[in-house]
Amino acid sequence: MPRLSEVTAALDALWPPERAESWDAVGTVCGDPDAEVTRVLFAVDPVQEIADEAVALGADLIVTHHPLYLRGTTTVAAGHFKGRVVHGLIKHDIALHVAHTNADTADPGVSDALAGALDLRVTGPLVPENNLGRICELDRPETLAEFAARAAARLPATAQGIRVAGDPGMTVRRVAVSGGSGDSLFDAVRAAGVDVFLTADLRHHPVSEATQHSPLGLVDAAHWATEWPWCEQAAAQLDEISDRHGWDLRVHVSKTVTDPWSFHHTSPGAPN
Ligand SMILES: [Zn+2]
Repeated sequence: MPRLSEVTAALDALWPPERAESWDAVGTVCGDPDAEVTRVLFAVDPVQEIADEAVALGADLIVTHHPLYLRGTTTVAAGHFKGRVVHGLIKHDIALHVAHTNADTADPGVSDALAGALDLRVTGPLVPENNLGRICELDRPETLAEFAARAAARLPATAQGIRVAGDPGMTVRRVAVSGGSGDSLFDAVRAAGVDVFLTADLRHHPVSEATQHSPLGLVDAAHWATEWPWCEQAAAQLDEISDRHGWDLRVHVSKTVTDPWSFHHTSPGAPN
């Protein structure tokens, strides 16, 4: 059985912490480096539901994409919801490790997993300077409506579903994808000359300006849904490392939907 320090060293080799953005908070949040690890749970968000799931599963380590604490903190008192997560984890000897922007820019990274889930062929990075996002090609052209249906069918189900901007009948051949919030990447998307950009958290003004600029199709999925495929990719990577080392490790992926939106209601008389 590996120790936590051995497992986190293997994870750091997959997603080198020095490749994280300077504002990010990646690495081990809590856990004893000498503790033995038998079960690992991968999830997007370090929220109470995931901590509870790890306890029920008997996991010794949770690996999440999002940090628990992004800014400096002076308390982990259980009166605060984040402190409650920390208390619960320590009480049950569960470690928490984060791979965030270092997983975004890894190879394979978060956007490779997203492209894989959508069954798209990756041809290169969207932002080569920091290996962010991916440019992809479809094996056969399809309409924007068909591409949106593909995203809805292949990404995990959320209350939001898929929002689309653009002509449903437009032809889609080349696509840019970026897991998580992607509306800072419009310049790179325009430079790449793709037909469609699939990402999350798109806001009114960037979308309005992008669609006025050129006939770009935009596909907005739930933030959690665009990053969840990374959990499966990461779990498979750790499984492979575990086999190579002869570790007795069980690796799980949480299917708990931690996207914060609960439901949506289509407006009566809405277009399309
Ligand atoms: Zn994210």
